[in-house]
Amino acid sequence: MPNITFLGAAGTVTGSKYLVEAGGKRLLVDCGLFQGPKELQQRNWNKLPLDPASIDWLLLTHAHIDHTGYIPRLVQDGFRGPIYSNAATRELCQLLLLDSAHLQEEDAQYAAKKNYSSHHPPLPLYTVAEAQTSLAQFREIPRADVFSISPEFSVLPHDAGHILGSSWLELTITENGKKTLVVFSGDLGRYDQPILKDPEPPARADFLLCESTYGDRDHPAGSVADKLADVIDRVAKRGGAVVIPSFAVGRTQTLMYYLRQLLSEQKIPGLPVYVDSPMAISVTGIYARHHEDHDADFTNLEQQGNKDPLDLLEVHMTRSVEDSKKINDLVSPCIILSASGMATGGRILHHLARRLPDSRNAVLLVGFQAEGTNGRALQDGAQYLRLFGKEVPVRAEVVTLDQLSAHAGRSELLRWLSGFNAPPRQTFMVHGEPNALDALRAGIVTRFHWPVTVPAYLQSFDLGTRAG
Ligand SMILES: [Zn+2]
Repeated sequence: MPNITFLGAAGTVTGSKYLVEAGGKRLLVDCGLFQGPKELQQRNWNKLPLDPASIDWLLLTHAHIDHTGYIPRLVQDGFRGPIYSNAATRELCQLLLLDSAHLQEEDAQYAAKKNYSSHHPPLPLYTVAEAQTSLAQFREIPRADVFSISPEFSVLPHDAGHILGSSWLELTITENGKKTLVVFSGDLGRYDQPILKDPEPPARADFLLCESTYGDRDHPAGSVADKLADVIDRVAKRGGAVVIPSFAVGRTQTLMYYLRQLLSEQKIPGLPVYVDSPMAISVTGIYARHHEDHDADFTNLEQQGNKDPLDLLEVHMTRSVEDSKKINDLVSPCIILSASGMATGGRILHHLARRLPDSRNAVLLVGFQAEGTNGRALQDGAQYLRLFGKEVPVRAEVVTLDQLSAHAGRSELLRWLSGFNAPPRQTFMVHGEPNALDALRAGIVTRFHWPVTVPAYLQSFDLGTRAG
């Protein structure tokens, strides 16, 4: 009888890993890193409850590290099978896994210096060289066609609208002549967003795994473009700079799209825009190349002669550290986008140190700011930030724009679920904090009357017997 084991994203939003077994074969869906609290991160160091060498294939929903960041470790521990993803996801993983390895190495070096690691000497979870090795196991599969993995497993990917390449998956399992259809929602995106297509509606499933990141809340209403225009206009008039800490994948490209639109409609003055993040620049190139993911509006723009609708009128991409430092000398109004998105590290720290003390400037926070980050401190009205060993006074205006999430809100999750034309035999709630999981479970039971389970970490379920 086929079965599924929840090796991650059970009761939490990170570490997505689902093991599906049928006919003596093992397929892993997603291979994410646990992130956040220490006790969760510790799971990255625990051995998996099975030998990675016994896994036959890995299949990915999208490139985010909480869905792919454990891959180099899995390979290091013996996994030798193919890693199946579409082309865009493979290209993003090349950047993200090497970056993740680089951060792991930095953390290990820092721990060695501070002498606080439980490993002696402190080791990275994996090295850049190990991440590089794992990339050789990637194999591209079609964006939206059936792909047969083996006699036991075939997959049909659909647009999930979350980031470039993101998919929800219809997995058909065949065992003893019986077919079982399992739908993996992956991470679902939002409707009517720029660049990417909307999430495709599902139709049927025997079993469903549904993400619940925003299962308990909706995103604020209101026009992103209008709010963005207001801030930029106001800051330009007083001669300041707008500094935007931004995630390299997705958020930066969405912002560039809005800025281009506002400029072409002359809703903002023609300020120079600096994209100061080598990773974001590379990701923007990947976003522009993968036309198969672009929605109709974006395709129209491309066809109207705007070869690249992410190409701004006066955009400066700064890859080198020297060019990055030159932005510090600018005294005229400008817009600076730089990573990281919560201002926990990266070049954004230099821009904040330079721009925060001047009340003409503004910092625009465009994503969720976790507890303990510089972004959160600014959001909470901190008077000073400690940057590079100095207390930097916060005199710049701080504005939060939280409509730009890449995740479906509660109503959007329910909208996607309403596509099913028959109740799944069992729905498993995954990828959510306990409150969000519970709230969405209650929502599904009230609205659709489906049987719903919230699986525990490492719990297994048969996917064979019919309920009722
Ligand atoms: Zn994601």
